[in-house]
Amino acid sequence: MIPSPFVQPAPRPRDGYRDDWLFRSYLGRKLPASVLRDVEPQVAELSALAAGRLWDLQLADRGNEPRLLHWDAWGNRVDRIEITPLWQEAERLAVRFGLTAIPQEQRHGAWSRVHQFALVHLFHAVTDVYTCPLAMTDGAARTLLAAGNAELIARAVPHLTSRDPHDFWTSGQWMTEATGGSDVGASQTVARLENGQWRLFGKKWFTSAATSQMALTLARPEGNGPGGSGLAMFYVETRGADGLLNAIRIERLKDKLGTRKVPTAELTLDGTVAHLVAGKTHGTRAIEPMLRVTRAWNSVCAASFLRHGLGLAHDYAAKRQAFGAALADQPLHRVTLQALDAESAAAFLLAFAFVELLGRDEAGELDERGAALLRILTPIAKATTGKQAAAGASELIEAFGGAGYVEDTGIPVILRDAQVLPIWEGTTNVLALDLLLRTDLASGLDALRARVGQAGSAADPQLQPAGAAALAAIDHAIRWHRATNDGDARQAGAREFTLTLGRGLQLALLVEHATAVTDPRDKAAAVAACGQFQRLGVDRIS
Ligand SMILES: Cc1cc2nc3c(=O)[nH]c(=O)nc-3n(C[C@H](O)[C@H](O)[C@H](O)COP(=O)(O)OP(=O)(O)OC[C@H]3O[C@@H](n4cnc5c(N)ncnc54)[C@H](O)[C@@H]3O)c2cc1C
Repeated sequence: MIPSPFVQPAPRPRDGYRDDWLFRSYLGRKLPASVLRDVEPQVAELSALAAGRLWDLQLADRGNEPRLLHWDAWGNRVDRIEITPLWQEAERLAVRFGLTAIPQEQRHGAWSRVHQFALVHLFHAVTDVYTCPLAMTDGAARTLLAAGNAELIARAVPHLTSRDPHDFWTSGQWMTEATGGSDVGASQTVARLENGQWRLFGKKWFTSAATSQMALTLARPEGNGPGGSGLAMFYVETRGADGLLNAIRIERLKDKLGTRKVPTAELTLDGTVAHLVAGKTHGTRAIEPMLRVTRAWNSVCAASFLRHGLGLAHDYAAKRQAFGAALADQPLHRVTLQALDAESAAAFLLAFAFVELLGRDEAGELDERGAALLRILTPIAKATTGKQAAAGASELIEAFGGAGYVEDTGIPVILRDAQVLPIWEGTTNVLALDLLLRTDLASGLDALRARVGQAGSAADPQLQPAGAAALAAIDHAIRWHRATNDGDARQAGAREFTLTLGRGLQLALLVEHATAVTDPRDKAAAVAACGQFQRLGVDRIS
C-alpha cells in the first residue's frame, strides 16, 4: 500500500504591521503620538488585508494579464486595455486609503509622507505593482504643482489626488524613447504649434500604465536645439470627450520578464493635442519633481518586497522540516534569514529616511543642509535599495527551495517584479552618474556625513563598532571623491561610490534605530540586524 503522501503546508504572509518588529517599531518610534493614533487603524486594516484577502486574490489572479483590445465585436476601433481583477481591486483600495491623496491633504504636515508610504509599504507587494501608476500619479501632481501652471493644476490635480473612485485619474510618464531612457535628451518626438494648438509627433517606447487618463511627456518644439534643454514638458489627456484616443496609437503591450500586470505599451503620437506645462525649454529639469517622487516610491517598494518575502520565508521555515527539525531551528538557515532581515531592514530605513526628508521638504521645514541631503539621497536611496531588492529577492526564492521556483506558490513573481526596480526610474549607473555630476555634491556630502555621525554615535558598546564602521565608509567615499580627479576614473567608480554612501548611511540608521527602540524584543532584533549588516559589508570602494 502506498503511504499517504506528504503534503507541505503552504506559507502565508505575516501581518506586516503586527508581526514585523521593524515596521511596528519604526512607526512607534517616529510618529508623534497624535499622528500614530490617527494612522494606526488604517495601517492595521491594510496590513490585515494584505496578509489575508489581497494575498489570496493575488494568488487567484496569477494567470491573468492585461489585454489590449483594438476592436470591439462590431468593428469599432476601441483601443482599450483591460486590466486584471487584482488591479481593479487595487485601484479601489488605493483610492479608499488615499494613497495619492494623503500628501496633498497634508493632514499630518511633515509626517504626511510617512503616513502615505507606511500604507504603500503594506500595499505594494500584494498588488502586482499597481504602485507603478500610483507613483506616476503622485509624481505628476507634484510636478504640476511645482510648475505652478494654475490652469493645469485646477484641471488635473483634484483628479490625481481624489478619494472618489469616479473622479480618480492616474497619470503616465512618457519619457523613454527607442533612442534611450537614460539619455532622454536624444528624444525625437517633435512638438508643432498648429493654429495655436500644440501637437506631438513621435514614438514613446516604454509607457507603463497606458490606461491612464493623462500623462506628462517630453517633446522638442520645432526650432529648438538638441539635448535635454531643447525639450519641453507637455501635458496630454489620453482621450477626448468622445472617449477616443487623442491621436495616439497603442502599438502593442510589451512582453516583459516581470511586472506583467502593468500594461507597458509602445505608443505612437500622431498629432496628439498637448499643452505646455512650464515653458518651451528645459523639460528635463521641469520633470524632476516627478522623478524625486517616483524614486521615493521605488525605494519603499524595494523594501516592501523584501519584508513581505521575508515574512513568507519565516512562515515557511517554521512549517518545513528537514533532517528531523524545522528549518527555523537549523543554524545555517536561521543565519541566512537573519542576513535577509538585516538587508531588508537597511533598505526600509533608508527608504523611509528619504521619505521623511521629502515630507519635511513639502511642509516647508527643511533648512539648506536638509535640502542638500534630500537632493543626494534621491539617487542614493533609489540605487541602493533597488540593488538590494533584486539580490534579496533572488536569495528569498532559494529559501523556499524548489517551491520558490514554482509559479503557483506565488513566490517567483517577487523575483521577476523586483528586478525592474534597479532599471526603471534610472538605472544604477545613471543614478550614480547623476549623483557624481551634481554641482552641489560637496554640500550634500557634508550633510550626509553629519547625518551619519549623528545616527551612528551610539553610547551602547555593542553598537559602537557598527557606528564607527558606518562613518569610516562615508569618510572613505568622501576621500575617494576628493582624490579622484580624472573624469574617466570618477565615472568608473561612481557606482561603488554611490553604494558605499547608501550602505554607510543604512548602517548608521540601523544603529540609530537599535539605540532608540525600547521594547526588549525589538531591540534585540535591531541589534542583531546591525551586526549582520556590518558583517555583510558596507564599504564597496575597491
Ligand atoms: C517594465 C518597464 C516599464 C517602464 N515604464 C516606463 C514608463 O512608464 N515611462 C518611461 O518613460 N520609461 C519607462 N521605462 C523605461 C525605463 O525608464 C528605461 O528602460 C530605463 O531608464 C533605461 O533606459 P534604456 O532602456 O533606454 O537603457 P539604456 O539607456 O540604453 O541603458 C542600457 C545600459 O547602459 C547603462 N548606461 C547608459 N548610459 C550610461 C553611461 N553614461 N555610463 C554608464 N552606463 C550607462 C545603463 O545603466 C544600462 O545598464 C520602463 C522600463 C521597464 C523595464
